[in-house]
Amino acid sequence: MTIGKIIDGKAFAATLRDKVADGVAAFAAQAGRKPGLAVVLVGEDPASAVYVRSKGKMTLAAGMESFEFKLPASIGEEELLDLVEELNADDRVDAILVQLPLPAHISEADIITAIDPAKDVDGFHVINSGKLATGQEAFVPCTPLGCIMLLKDELGDLSGLEAVVVGRSNIVGKPMAQLLLAENCTVTIAHSRTRDLASVVHRADIVVAAVGRAEMVKGEWIKPGATVIDVGINRIADGDEGKTRLVGDVATAEALAHVRAITPVPGGVGPMTIAVLLRNTLVAAHLREGLPKPTGL
Ligand code: NDP
Repeated sequence: MTIGKIIDGKAFAATLRDKVADGVAAFAAQAGRKPGLAVVLVGEDPASAVYVRSKGKMTLAAGMESFEFKLPASIGEEELLDLVEELNADDRVDAILVQLPLPAHISEADIITAIDPAKDVDGFHVINSGKLATGQEAFVPCTPLGCIMLLKDELGDLSGLEAVVVGRSNIVGKPMAQLLLAENCTVTIAHSRTRDLASVVHRADIVVAAVGRAEMVKGEWIKPGATVIDVGINRIADGDEGKTRLVGDVATAEALAHVRAITPVPGGVGPMTIAVLLRNTLVAAHLREGLPKPTGL
């Protein structure tokens, strides 16, 4: 039995961060300042807090300026909008990321809409999602952009390949499908109402799973030789002693017998997200200074 390749997202992300750090040094030499990323965290969600801490550390490690704002869950929408306005107007800030989810009393759509699209390195603003959908230059959400980078590194030209994206969120599924379409794939988006998901997935040369259900995509669903990108991050019980571990949306051990290549969880797509965020921040800084977009990233 042949076993597919495990795609090393961790190593790819480390290389990308190194390239970004080189780009930051070149930018600082030209612009006389560092690129700046502002991250706003509202509330105490532990996963978000870990993620924001790690973003801050990697932003500094890349040689950028990091601005962190930790606000109580009780903050009102108006106050948060005021902070976004301040960051929009702050010349040291090239990029703004408001960590989602926000508390229920704050409209995520209102906050995202308030971010200057030129600083929207998460690519969630309708101006950026609209540009992506119409084939214009845009900030693209970090996770799907990281997935496309891994796919192109593995497969080269994606043109004509059959791609199935499972999940249709604005953060992952929909932009992922747009990016695959832009690479000339034939794209299907599956979701919770899709009938016979197994046979839909079985058509695909490229499967992207972004669902949030532990090991839902079974090995036998995968067409032999397909490449699988597993975006899911699910924490499950590991043994009887209260331990837990992370798994993806794909049953990786089973899938390995079918795939050409697959991203593991952890160590696949996860590390790419922050690396791409730093890349998008560097791009934002160049565009704001009227410098040509850095190449090779
Ligand atoms: P959402 O919950 O926003 O979307 C999940 C999608 O999966 C929905 O479109 C939903 O369909 C679909 N879905 C749910 N159940 C099924 C089912 N039984 N069959 C088919 N489709 C189904 O999640 P996100 O897109 O935000 O995240 C998806 C996963 O990716 C999560 O595990 C998340 O933790 C992870 N993630 C990882 C990141 C990383 O950096 N690696 C970044 C972002 C997310 P419907 O629309 O019909 O409800």
